[in-house]
Amino acid sequence: MSHHEVLIIGSGPAGLTAAIYTARASLAPLVIEGEPSSTSDQPGGQLMLTTEVENFPGFPNGIMGPELMINFREQAMRFGATFVTEKVTAVDFSERPFRVWVRGTEYTADSIIVSTGAQSLMLGLPEEQHLLGHGLSTCATCDGFFFRGHEIAVVGGGDSAIEEASFLTKFASKVTLIHRRDSLRASKIMQERALNNPKIEMRWNSTVTALHGTETLTGATVTDVNTGEESLLPVTGLFVAIGHRPNTDLFAGVLDMEDNGYLITKPGSTYTNIAGVFACGDVQDHTYRQAITAAGSGCMAALDSERWLEAQHLG
Ligand code: NAP
Repeated sequence: MSHHEVLIIGSGPAGLTAAIYTARASLAPLVIEGEPSSTSDQPGGQLMLTTEVENFPGFPNGIMGPELMINFREQAMRFGATFVTEKVTAVDFSERPFRVWVRGTEYTADSIIVSTGAQSLMLGLPEEQHLLGHGLSTCATCDGFFFRGHEIAVVGGGDSAIEEASFLTKFASKVTLIHRRDSLRASKIMQERALNNPKIEMRWNSTVTALHGTETLTGATVTDVNTGEESLLPVTGLFVAIGHRPNTDLFAGVLDMEDNGYLITKPGSTYTNIAGVFACGDVQDHTYRQAITAAGSGCMAALDSERWLEAQHLG
C-alpha cells in the first residue's frame, strides 16, 4: 500500500494537466492512467485515437494526438508525477484517507482528482478500429477541416448529429445525414437548420452496416432498416454522432452524477459532493468536450486540490 497527497484517476488532457500542476506544487501526484486498449478510457484518453490535432494552441503546424499526450505525460514526469499503467477497479471515498484499488493493490490519498473522461458511442462495426482517425471521426470540430470539398456523412439524429452536419457543410461539398428512424430526435430549431440546408441530404430509416477502405475510408454500406436494401455511399469521411458515455461506473452511488452519468461539479469549480474529491475534463463536461477545455479544467482541479489540502493543513 502506498499513500499520496494527490491521486489522479485518468490520464487524458485533464488528468495530465492536473498532474503537471500538482507535481510543480511538490504534491508528488500518483496518476493511475488506465491500461492500453482500443477505447477512449485508455492512457492518454480520446486523443490517442485521433490523428492530427490542429486546434490545440501552441502548435501552429498541428501535432499528432498521441504525440501531444506523450508530451503532456513527459512534462508531468519531469516534475515528479508517477504513473501506474492499470485501471482502478474499486474506490472507497467514505472516509479519509480515500482508498483506491487496482485489483489487489490498495492506494490511499488525501485528495483525489477524477479525470476518467468519456467515450464516444460507436456503431460496433469491426472496421471502426483501423479507420478511426483515417476518415472515421467522432469530432467534427476537430476533423471537419480535413474534408474540404469532400462528400461525407454523419450518423445520428440528435442535436449533436445535426450540429456536426451543419458545421461540416462549411467544408464538405455534401453531407449525408444517416438516421435510423423517420424523424429526428434533435430540437425543432436544429432540425429546421439541417432540413433547410441545401448541402445536407437526409437518409432516413437507415443504418451504416459496413465501412470500406484499408488505409483510409472510401465508402460506407448503408442499409434501409425497412426493406433491408443495401447501397454504397462513396464518402471519404464518416462522423459518428450517436452520443457519448462518461466513464463513471466506478463512482456510481459514490459521487453525484446526472441521469446520463456525467459527474456533477459545483459551478465554477471542480468540487464534487465529497470534500477532497475533484472532477475535471470530459467526465464532468458534456458541452465543450475539447482537449483544451479538459486541460483547463485539469488545471482548475489541481489548484482546487492544492488549496483544499492547504486548508486541511495537509498540503
Ligand atoms: P442523443 O440526443 O442521445 O442522440 C443520439 C442519436 O443517435 C439519436 O438520434 C439516436 O437515435 C442515434 N443513435 C443512438 N445509437 C445509435 C446507433 N447504435 N446507431 C444509429 N443511431 C444511433 O445524443 P446527442 O445528440 O449527442 O446529444 C446529447 C445531449 O446533448 C442531448 O441532450 C442534446 O440535446 C445535447 N446537445 C445539445 C446541443 C445544442 O443544443 N447545441 C448540441 C449537441 C448536444 P434515436 O433517435 O432513434 O434514438
